[in-house]
Amino acid sequence: MSRLFYARKIVKLQESHLIEKYKDKSELPKHIRLDVSTACQLKCPACYMRQEKEAVKKGCKIGHLKFENFKKLVDENDIESIELSNSGEIFLNPDFVKILKYAYKKNIYVTADNGVNLNYLTDEQAQALCKYHLNSITISLDGASQDTYKIYRVNGNYDKVIQNIEKINFYKNKYKNGCPHIVWKFIVFGHNEHEILKAKEEAERLNCEIKFDANWDEKYSPIKNPEKVLKETGLTSLDVNISPIEQLQEYENGIVDWFFCRDLWEPQINWDGQILGCCANFKENFGGNAFKDGLLNALNHPYMIYAKNMVTNNAKPAKAIPCTRCWVYKDMYKNNVWLKSPKVEGVL
Ligand code: SF4
Repeated sequence: MSRLFYARKIVKLQESHLIEKYKDKSELPKHIRLDVSTACQLKCPACYMRQEKEAVKKGCKIGHLKFENFKKLVDENDIESIELSNSGEIFLNPDFVKILKYAYKKNIYVTADNGVNLNYLTDEQAQALCKYHLNSITISLDGASQDTYKIYRVNGNYDKVIQNIEKINFYKNKYKNGCPHIVWKFIVFGHNEHEILKAKEEAERLNCEIKFDANWDEKYSPIKNPEKVLKETGLTSLDVNISPIEQLQEYENGIVDWFFCRDLWEPQINWDGQILGCCANFKENFGGNAFKDGLLNALNHPYMIYAKNMVTNNAKPAKAIPCTRCWVYKDMYKNNVWLKSPKVEGVL
């Protein structure tokens, strides 16, 4: 039976609590974010992987997680849950089925909630999602026809995505374990706002939950009829550009359960083992490599420890630390507002 309801306990730091190294493996995070692939076949205009190609070449690079590295990581560490998607398309990884099967064998709760485009999915992969309990998946699908979908999801094929959802549903009906829970994520633009109701009907037919979001880049295809969009989507606001410290305040007040820098305590690991720290960072690493150095050494790297102390206001900015160049850190520094509740303990 899959563990569909999963929660973690967030622990507040004491004021001026200096963050130190993990003493041993038992203190390591139980949840990590491990990017299965940073490759993608689409060319979405606002994607950072397209816009900042030179930074990508130096930072996270384009590539796939190898099964051998995955196996070593989960064999050597007590990891309970992994988010598999971040900067690329997980289904392009040739080892994807082996990785999922092994995660299932190790009883690890796996998700692909950051998102997939689902333009490519083999039968074997569709079956594996259900058989090996991928708990949830978010499909980025902005439109209800090829004519609108292809405008932002350049190179994408709407009909293919729908066929691939149907393929997953075929195996969901076969295995009947509820896996994966499918979320259709529809980013509303000016060019697709007329298809909101059609998408809702289609999501119902496909047994998917549908969630709407506004585009973060207000200049790209802006919404023409905000009132109608709010009514049809159920969104309370189309303003997604709240500042990092506003987001941090929402996190500290329990309105949302995630904030960028908190990832340092449940770190983002690249397909090649580099510690990227948080999902906002794709340009530099935090010193260690989870595959070459082992997870304990990589997360105890002095840069990683220093970064945690920076975002909690226990250390001054330092050139070697990626946070120093980050827009989130700059906003916290400017306003003297800091992360207080980063630590996450176990599964409830
Ligand atoms: S300051 Fe930026 S790079 Fe550092 S953890 Fe926060 S979001 Fe990530």
